[in-house]
Amino acid sequence: MSLPTIIIGAGVGGLTTGALLAHDSHDVIVLEKSTKLGGRTASMKFKNHILDNGFHIMPFYKKSAIFTILKNLGIESRLKLAKVDDIAFYATTGFHIYPKGMVDLLRLSLIPFKSRIRLLKLLLPLAFSSIEKTELWDDIPLTKITHDLDADTNAFFEAVCMLAFADTADHISLGEFARTIIRANPFKGGTSEFAYPDGGGYDSICHVLGDFILEHNGILKTKQSVKKIIIKDSKVTGVVVIDSLNAKKIIPTNSVVVSYPAYTALNQLFEKNIINLKFIEKINKLNKTTSVVEVHFALNSQIDTRQVVFPVGKDYVTKGIFFISNITPSVSPAGEHLIIAGTPVSSDDTEDSRKVQNIVTKMKEEISSIYPKFNSALLWERPMAWKLVESVVKEPGKVWKSKMPHQIPGIEGLFFVGDSTISYGIGTDSAAHSSILCHPKIKSFLNSLIK
Ligand SMILES: Cc1cc2nc3c(=O)[nH]c(=O)nc-3n(C[C@H](O)[C@H](O)[C@H](O)COP(=O)(O)OP(=O)(O)OC[C@H]3O[C@@H](n4cnc5c(N)ncnc54)[C@H](O)[C@@H]3O)c2cc1C
Repeated sequence: MSLPTIIIGAGVGGLTTGALLAHDSHDVIVLEKSTKLGGRTASMKFKNHILDNGFHIMPFYKKSAIFTILKNLGIESRLKLAKVDDIAFYATTGFHIYPKGMVDLLRLSLIPFKSRIRLLKLLLPLAFSSIEKTELWDDIPLTKITHDLDADTNAFFEAVCMLAFADTADHISLGEFARTIIRANPFKGGTSEFAYPDGGGYDSICHVLGDFILEHNGILKTKQSVKKIIIKDSKVTGVVVIDSLNAKKIIPTNSVVVSYPAYTALNQLFEKNIINLKFIEKINKLNKTTSVVEVHFALNSQIDTRQVVFPVGKDYVTKGIFFISNITPSVSPAGEHLIIAGTPVSSDDTEDSRKVQNIVTKMKEEISSIYPKFNSALLWERPMAWKLVESVVKEPGKVWKSKMPHQIPGIEGLFFVGDSTISYGIGTDSAAHSSILCHPKIKSFLNSLIK
């Protein structure tokens, strides 16, 4: 007999898997420990603005794994998307175009013409390779192909990496970079466009998925912290939950999908000796995340009409300025404008409030040097320091198939999804891709219980 599948975590990974199972008419119960849906993509209201948990943007627009899932569920029209394609570099020489495809590289005024040709020669073979071939490059750092480039071209790579991976080139695997180029290459029918929910709030994606689950008789519960997964004779038999009233209860089930970073979950959710220690040690090594300081600024006038600007060059602390109100005005009340500026930092820096404040001060100086009206337009600022930006890019050797597998051999009814598990792509795209890959395995297990 098949009992409802318990999904632990209502982020993009948990909700995409939940929606796919609900679509198959399987019973699902999503348990989320916080008060809201979205996980790392949760949003909040602050002074009548919709603020995301740091800057969030959807890679690959309608070619993304998220959009593919919404389409398969027949609900893609519920997520109105605003395109993010007005992107520019800013250098001491002024604003320069951001290349959306290979042809644009020839117009890349940021770097000398000779460097553009070199760049094209470097990127074209990547763009025309296959996803299978990129797997051979998963252990190689991106800097292996960029280290002898001139400083201008390297600065270009750093800026592109900031947009696509929220990290610097030396942390990025050549394989993952190549897969991104292949998927974003207009020559191959992909799209280099990014997207953001037009109604504002990146968590709209999770709300669309959550509504779908409820409409298909699924259950979504917040303020439910799963403490243990009960395994007997190598089979899942239930979960132990602490509910909103702090009461402990056991929910019987034969199938559990864990959807938060596996290196944390494996250390929290199991009795000793259930999971092989060597396996846990291997997965713990995946715990390599990016840290960022990001600051929301509300302004009383529009200082630029562009959507994203990358200050380029070592001297800039600010690596990206994201004009959220220019992507969709619905994030801000009438007459006000929201921007967010960000920079990668070391994880220790995120805990040092003095360092965070210094970064904010430097960012404000830099933004006002680019936009002289910034200081007089500034209404308020709200800094945030994030440790767990994503468990996707990590570092060479810890991407794609080297991530946490969706199942642990020898344990029946236990599945893992989310951005720490086998999948490629960036952030939310990888969380959704993991669901696409894992869904047939869960389905086949549930069907085997019915027979
Ligand atoms: C500042 C920042 C900027 C980012 N920018 C981008 C971007 O621009 N583009 C992009 O694609 N990605 C971006 N990301 C990454 C993206 O947010 C994540 O890759 C994605 O949201 C991961 O989804 P997930 O479902 O795997 O995990 P999560 O979103 O972490 O979801 C896990 C959920 O599980 C819940 N949970 C944990 N433990 C338990 C428990 N014991 N019981 C019950 N519930 C539990 C958590 O509360 C959480 O809601 C960014 C992340 C951050 C932090």
